[in-house]
Amino acid sequence: MKKIKAVMFLGFVWFAFPIFAQFNAGSNGAYHNFAETEAVLRELAGRYPGLTQLVSVGLSIEGRELYVLKISDFAQTEESEANIYIIGGTHAREWISIEVPLLFARQLLENYAEDAAVRRLVDGAQIYIMPLLNPDGLEFSIHTYRWWRKTRRYNGNFSWGVDLNRNWGFQWGYDNLGSSPDPNSETYRGSGPFSEPETDALRLFMQDHPPIGAIFYHNFSQKIIYPWEHTAAPAPDQAKMAVIATEMSRRMAAVSGRVYLTGSSEISYAVNGGSCDWVYGTFAAPAFTIELPNATYLQGGFFTAESEIMTTFAENLPALLYFIDCFLEKN
Ligand SMILES: [Zn+2]
Repeated sequence: MKKIKAVMFLGFVWFAFPIFAQFNAGSNGAYHNFAETEAVLRELAGRYPGLTQLVSVGLSIEGRELYVLKISDFAQTEESEANIYIIGGTHAREWISIEVPLLFARQLLENYAEDAAVRRLVDGAQIYIMPLLNPDGLEFSIHTYRWWRKTRRYNGNFSWGVDLNRNWGFQWGYDNLGSSPDPNSETYRGSGPFSEPETDALRLFMQDHPPIGAIFYHNFSQKIIYPWEHTAAPAPDQAKMAVIATEMSRRMAAVSGRVYLTGSSEISYAVNGGSCDWVYGTFAAPAFTIELPNATYLQGGFFTAESEIMTTFAENLPALLYFIDCFLEKN
């Protein structure tokens, strides 16, 4: 009896306090690990050869492929259509950020034949979906330490990992608040701009296929954030980006009732060397960080329940469709 009570107590602790989930090593449940993500991308590319092009843009520091799935009509051909990027899995422990882009790819392809609205977007744009920018970190988060955030680069002196959302080459190392020069820090920016193979591979690919719009999924905090992130000064297109963010938020709330806060660094914290500032600063393309739920640490923080995967995707779907539509030529 005592034993049963002890087990029940441990079970309660496990579920009641997300901090204990860090010991839940080796099980990713309904979430996709690297191999499962790769399998989904291959499955979709295999089923829809005319609408997809699956490319590896490079290798992670531990040698894993960095996949981008292009979705468009005549996907094997480079067309003069809007290049739109949907990216997830920058930070290792942010598992839900991989699921939303992955489900979105499936949604577009499986509904293309039947859904005229989806078909119009896929025909009119070149949609680049990269669900997992940091595969090494994800595997480490699954198998070793659930709270891991950075890559698995060895920095020397028993220090591992670079924060890929501090390693981009626009205002890299602008100050030591929005990123850290300390290799032991969770926000270590690396030894130089694009010092990491993951960011550098995506940079090169984006330079070859310049974005007109981009969304980078993260979690948590339930927010939609747009540049600038490195400074409180407003970006030249701040008003335009605010309109897009507000409209995305409105469409999300219409599905689930959950409100995603919108704004620039004032609603979050300063970030330099971030992906959105680089995309906007380099291409003048509106770029958004979408911080998925949970909204707060006490609601679960980084650990979004498996039962919330489809709910989270469902509320993001109309926002994503609207986002792509923003960049289509209207006639
Ligand atoms: Zn993140």
